[in-house]
Amino acid sequence: MSETIEGTPRAGVLAKSENISWPAQSETGGLVLLTPGPACTSARVKSALLRGDMTHREPEFSNLADGLRRKLPKSVGLNETHQAILVTGSGTAADEMAIISSVREGRALLVLNNGVYGARLIAIARAYRIVVHEVVPVGNAMDLWTTPISVESVRTALNEHPDIDVVACVHHETTAGLINPIAEIAEEVRRSDALFMTDSISATANEAPDLALARPDIVLGTSNKGLHGFPGISFLLCSERAIERFAEVRPRSLYLSAATYLNAQRNGDVPFTPAVQICYALDEALDELEEAGGYFARMELYRARGALVRGGFERLGLSILVNEQYRSASVTTLSLPQGIEYSPLHDELKKRGYVMYAGQGKLSLRYFRICTFGAISWQNLEQLEPALRESLAAVNR
Ligand SMILES: *Cc1c(COP(=O)(O)O)cnc(C)c1O
Repeated sequence: MSETIEGTPRAGVLAKSENISWPAQSETGGLVLLTPGPACTSARVKSALLRGDMTHREPEFSNLADGLRRKLPKSVGLNETHQAILVTGSGTAADEMAIISSVREGRALLVLNNGVYGARLIAIARAYRIVVHEVVPVGNAMDLWTTPISVESVRTALNEHPDIDVVACVHHETTAGLINPIAEIAEEVRRSDALFMTDSISATANEAPDLALARPDIVLGTSNKGLHGFPGISFLLCSERAIERFAEVRPRSLYLSAATYLNAQRNGDVPFTPAVQICYALDEALDELEEAGGYFARMELYRARGALVRGGFERLGLSILVNEQYRSASVTTLSLPQGIEYSPLHDELKKRGYVMYAGQGKLSLRYFRICTFGAISWQNLEQLEPALRESLAAVNR
């Protein structure tokens, strides 16, 4: 009774002394990750890692990559208008490739910034000495991360800075769990000559169907959040205009130049060694998504998950940072109750099988996050409320 699974003390031993319910377990017996990626994966996705050894110079890999490139746009509600580029690296690698491959020499990037990930896009541009302009929401310091970007502010920035070549917006700001109005922003950007790029890394398949409406020139995603794959592969979905633009931009990086990947892809090739097994798992995760009803069904699932866990938060008296109308389905930022610190609460909840996530940056002292990405059972989410209740009581003793 005292064995541990993936570092979690099991019940039995703990339950006697600390009144802990039987710890929750993921489908494959590990911790239930309530983190904004990497997220829990199903047994089926995990077993895809064992499809076997394969080198990327063989037709088997070309077929796998072709399949992924066909399935990825579909998985987020875009069709053949967008071509996928697979990048081996976490989501930030896709962010970096997209920015440095699309802003022409002497032109500028406009970043719509209302969180840590918007700030990261700015940091990427600066690291390459790309001129960057910024739009932030109006309001006090706290409002910056809880208010969506306004379309008017985008219009003003586009008028003020004729050098803007690309407009970049974080679709779902994972910092607070906030959705930006990308469809309306896209319409505004289309009035200019600039390309529109969305970091949809925490929004692919799991949030509202805005991508199908916005049809950004470049959409960025990753395999380990709403798509339920493993970390290690991220991707760009690119319009024809974006592809033309990549060919015009002088390469700023050897490894992360989009044009290099596209040229190789045209010959059924990849420029560098990809994470082959992670691609197998992503392929399986995309099939799982399709068989479960596609991205619309996934969005509905996430909406239902959000409603379920938030009902529990309300009963526990935990208040949610972001206004209801701006909230994402998958990430909830919650106030720490008076006198309760993050670390002991995290540790108590972990004893009960769940891993929560700290607030980011200035939110870290007063807030924590619960994210419902990944292969999590409905029962695990139902049992979160009693587990959190026990954990709050345990740290409050
Ligand atoms: C997770 C995430 C990223 C990428 O982070 P990595 O740690 O590189 O995977 C980028 N943007 C957003 C909005 C994210 O949620």
